[in-house]
Amino acid sequence: MASNVRNQSEKIKFAEPQLGPLSQIHTGGDAEFLVRPTTFYQLQAALAFANAEHLPVTMLGALSNSLVSDRGIPGLAVHTALLNRMYIQGSLLVSQCGTSMDLLIDYAIENGLGGLERLGGLPGTVGGAVYGNSGSHGLYTADHLYWIDYLDREGNLIRMRAHSEEFSYRHSPFWGNEGMTIYEVAFQLEPIIRTNEARVEKERYKAQRRATGQYSHPSIGCIFRNPEGESAGRIIDSLSLKGTSIGGAMISPEHANFIINRDGTATSDEVKALIDLVKATVWKERGITLVEEIRYLGSW
Ligand SMILES: Cc1cc2nc3c(=O)[nH]c(=O)nc-3n(C[C@H](O)[C@H](O)[C@H](O)COP(=O)(O)OP(=O)(O)OC[C@H]3O[C@@H](n4cnc5c(N)ncnc54)[C@H](O)[C@@H]3O)c2cc1C
Repeated sequence: MASNVRNQSEKIKFAEPQLGPLSQIHTGGDAEFLVRPTTFYQLQAALAFANAEHLPVTMLGALSNSLVSDRGIPGLAVHTALLNRMYIQGSLLVSQCGTSMDLLIDYAIENGLGGLERLGGLPGTVGGAVYGNSGSHGLYTADHLYWIDYLDREGNLIRMRAHSEEFSYRHSPFWGNEGMTIYEVAFQLEPIIRTNEARVEKERYKAQRRATGQYSHPSIGCIFRNPEGESAGRIIDSLSLKGTSIGGAMISPEHANFIINRDGTATSDEVKALIDLVKATVWKERGITLVEEIRYLGSW
């Protein structure tokens, strides 16, 4: 079946399907088909191919908030890294979905636009940040979103005005709606003259991440959402779970809500087993149900 489908689609350029090296925690199997479009038309053609062949589609940003199954991802996986064009329109910064958020903030400051500095050092792409309404230090991606161009299952390009009431903590209208592919978004930013101050502020937030060990081991960031009025990390820490390991997966000794691939040997199944262990322990000891912030991609 796979080679048959491949023959039917000479227009589409397939990439090497290994996802482990793309994932920020360095775990996970292969995609059945992987594409890395560089233009809107390539993206549209890849989605049309999947639609015609009835293949499920999975969008991949930087995989910094997703756990890819060791059994891989069936159907078409679209890695957005090369959809990374940006331009300025007045005080709007428009970007394709695969741009790194950290580079986007640099580009904004270089062009005299501020507002996103508190997200400095956030790993991941624009598409992933919009999908999960990523945030830090009280600032959410949606706070500056103006519009989002997305493709529906039929390949129609639709512009959605970003209304703040449709976004909340780690939630957007795209969450769980896998048929909506974020293509390009516009951020409404503030003109600034003191770009030096914005640069220093942004780098300070990034340095804080480095200083607290966020980048020292492969990970996918916070595993769990914070329960209402609580911190998931503090709850896990209070149960002395930091440093607990299953195989190569370990609850970070520095940050209780992070699971790290401590020596490069972890599998996604080990990470998942550790997640289940934390959930069961927190439920048993505190009566709290922790809910994952990360996405599970592929066959679980
Ligand atoms: C060290 C570290 C620190 C972190 N700190 C933070 C933090 O402070 N705050 C925070 O919120 N998060 C944080 N994260 C998590 C993560 O970086 C963010 O959630 C990030 O925005 C995810 O982007 P991504 O491109 O990696 O998304 P991915 O993991 O690739 O994808 C996430 C979800 O978005 C979907 N998706 C991706 N692109 C598209 C698209 N174009 N169209 C439709 N769907 C799409 C995917 O299918 C998946 O369901 C951290 C992670 C790490 C490793």
